[in-house]
Amino acid sequence: MGNKTVAIISESLRALMENETFLPLLQDEQRDKAFSSLVSILSTPNHVHKSNLRIKLGNGEVVRIPSFRVQHNNILGPYKGGIRFHETVNEEEVSNLATLMTLKAALHDVPFGGAKGGVVIDPRSFDISELYIICKKYVQYFSQIIGPEKDIPAPDVGTSAREMDWMMGAYKSINPGKEYLGSFTGKSIENGGSLGRREATGKGVYFTYRFLMDVFKKQRDRIMELEHHPFIQTLERHVDKQATIAIQGFGNVGSVIALEAHYQNNEDQLVVAVSDKNVTLFHNEGLDIERLVQYARDHEGDLPTTEKSLNDAHIEATILERDALLTLDVDVLFLAALENQIHLDNVHDIHAPIIVEGANNPITSEADEVLSDQGVVVIPDILANAGGAIVSYYEWIQGRETQFYSEEEVFRLLLDKMKQTCNSVYESYFDFAFPLRKICYMRAIMKLSTTLYRQGKLYS
Ligand code: NAD
Repeated sequence: MGNKTVAIISESLRALMENETFLPLLQDEQRDKAFSSLVSILSTPNHVHKSNLRIKLGNGEVVRIPSFRVQHNNILGPYKGGIRFHETVNEEEVSNLATLMTLKAALHDVPFGGAKGGVVIDPRSFDISELYIICKKYVQYFSQIIGPEKDIPAPDVGTSAREMDWMMGAYKSINPGKEYLGSFTGKSIENGGSLGRREATGKGVYFTYRFLMDVFKKQRDRIMELEHHPFIQTLERHVDKQATIAIQGFGNVGSVIALEAHYQNNEDQLVVAVSDKNVTLFHNEGLDIERLVQYARDHEGDLPTTEKSLNDAHIEATILERDALLTLDVDVLFLAALENQIHLDNVHDIHAPIIVEGANNPITSEADEVLSDQGVVVIPDILANAGGAIVSYYEWIQGRETQFYSEEEVFRLLLDKMKQTCNSVYESYFDFAFPLRKICYMRAIMKLSTTLYRQGKLYS
């Protein structure tokens, strides 16, 4: 597992151990032993499953495709996590993402453990029948470890509802007569998926930002009396103004964040910039998000890249180069594209005082430290982008009960859950001068450690 993950787990545990109310029955030497056990348990996966899938291509050629399923920890419930199809996916990446899933589920009180899968292919180089075979083989090779009560995969980069539908079909054939709707989540609605799953992550990301501002506004007098806290000063400077917003990535997550912001009261905020893999579009009076969403829908997800296409679609905007979005002088920057977008080479050019992580790991740990030292408020991935994981949990429940909820009900459940987590996290944020990421990790690790201890898994 990556050093970054081990470091953040050890650092959070060390901070927890300093508090006597954490595992209060453990003293002195026992406490030291418990610390070592916890670091070791939480920073190593329970199981790493690997296989080389044997696939016969359409042209008759037989290839071996490396594939993984890493099951990090299941102390809180069955393993859960996406399957990534990407040409550079590797064991370490999958392991880190599995750990993040364990922590995310713990933070949001979702009764799942953490896992992740990977298949080393560029899915665009395979035709549909080859992709179908790859999905089927993945389930066959890992059939012993997957299932509604064991490990429940979901889509990730390079996979979607289509692949989950195929995989669930394969699971059903291997396990005739067994309950199967809970074996995969992120399925199509027609095949037992949940309404609201597509929008869940973007909605949740936007909610974590809006809720932070609302809590701050409501408790402002109390909060401003607390000791000097760089993050509080940042919020104080921005809470009363119309916030300008820039969103990196205009896919599933980014376009929903843009719509959520757009439908809010415009006196509170204005989406002035969006970007995708080709371009940044900027308009200081606010972009027409509805038209941009429609344009992207009609053009395989892409934003307009020429004056002509903007004019034809009646959209006012200035075209800038793709990465220009990151360094714009805006109040809030949402990162909803890829990992490692803010790093040591560009962190000093970032002007946004509030950053929200829609993607996983969009800020490197070195850049994160710089931002933190500058008092930049970063709402971390583990808190902000859990909407998909939370609605996956509701999809799993619906599948097992074979009772399906309305979209309205799914959004209500989602936002109730996120509100619960945000309330507890923001409370601590205003009381201690720690970055939000550290608070979230500490809360997740506290939940995991206490459960591990209560179940007798720490031999101290
Ligand atoms: P997506 O494929 O639908 O969209 C990705 C968007 O990012 C596209 O608009 C693409 O053009 C853009 N993009 C790619 N490279 C870019 C670059 N260098 N600069 C600017 N834009 C770029 O993916 P998504 O489902 O929206 O997910 C976005 C991120 O959020 C991914 O990192 C994903 O792992 C993470 N995430 C997604 C979910 C979910 O439920 N979809 C949940 C948690 C985390």
